Amino acid sequence: MKKIKVGILGCTGSVGQKLVRLLSSHSLFEISELAASESSAGKKYGDVVRWLESEEMSDRIANLVIKQCTNDLESKILFSALDASVAGEIESMLAENGYIIISNSKNHRMDSDVPLVIPEVNTSHLKLIHIQKRKGKGFIVTNPNCSTIVLSLALIPIYRSFGLKRVIVTTMQAISGAGYPGVASLDILGNIIPYIENEEEKIETEILKIFGNMENDSIKFADFKVSALCNRVPVRDGHLMSISFETEQKAKEEEILASIYEFNQKCKEENGLTVLHYMLEKGRPQPLLDVNRSGGMAVTVGNLRKCSVLDWKFTALGHNTIRGAAGAAIKNAEYLLKMGLI
Ligand code: NAP
Repeated sequence: MKKIKVGILGCTGSVGQKLVRLLSSHSLFEISELAASESSAGKKYGDVVRWLESEEMSDRIANLVIKQCTNDLESKILFSALDASVAGEIESMLAENGYIIISNSKNHRMDSDVPLVIPEVNTSHLKLIHIQKRKGKGFIVTNPNCSTIVLSLALIPIYRSFGLKRVIVTTMQAISGAGYPGVASLDILGNIIPYIENEEEKIETEILKIFGNMENDSIKFADFKVSALCNRVPVRDGHLMSISFETEQKAKEEEILASIYEFNQKCKEENGLTVLHYMLEKGRPQPLLDVNRSGGMAVTVGNLRKCSVLDWKFTALGHNTIRGAAGAAIKNAEYLLKMGLI
């Protein structure tokens, strides 16, 4: 099968580079264009990018000349890893001009006609694409914030089986989540910063949209309470989180574990990969040891135990720039292709 040509907006950033690496060897998509800001445009990718990936970049990619994010781009499918200060306007303009935008950025996630999708969780929301198409020629599909993806995959089996009333999540988020160059080394080395701008609000609202139901032409948000407490920690890759939750219907430990195993089994039957892995070993998951499971696409959970305030508590971990960003966008594009939507 001939590969589909795609472009990457924000190709020089930390998520953009991850997209370049993951798409360089993809069986369905081929990178044909790279775009970034005016200051990078006109230069060869290999000369401009501060390459942070451990795999070497191919000569073909290194020699691509970076373009500007305008409607002269030839590829109709564009992955976006643009800085949030510019993503909103650029993505809207390109979608109006007929491009299909698969975005990582926060700007359009909560728009009422934009699907916020995790393929294993809420593909029914892709119906919103038809509403967008009534307004313009192209459309935008987004993936959630990096922490929201991990939290959502960890909780979805429990939500579907027992319902949720209240969730408290405390995140320990990797430095790579802040982009490049991100947090200054003097701020983060040997330290923890108990603040990430707008992160708590994103987690608390996005999960309710993702777990919501498609009703007629809109999404009815899920109805449970979420409190998020976010911290930046001196870890390179991988967001770890402590989650406490109260269920609608009371559940036993073995029933919660069964819901997790069954969800993972179903995902595995559909695409061969472990998506949600429960570790029985004490003191796991850990970023250093567990972040790359399924090539960085799995969420690992463990340490389920009773909570004396809510019902239960456990730990979850996911790779923030793969499952939480570039890999999530690619998974959305693969699903759109499979369903004939691109
Ligand atoms: P980043 O490292 O700061 O990269 C930002 C990219 O945006 C660069 O390629 C930059 O190009 C481009 N850009 C900046 N201003 C521009 C302009 N005026 N016109 C066109 N391009 C412009 O950020 P990142 O961490 O990769 O994040 C990218 C997006 O993904 C953000 O919206 C972020 O919130 C989201 N996200 C990040 C993560 C993560 O873990 N890092 C996870 C989920 C979602 P130049 O180099 O030319 O300036």
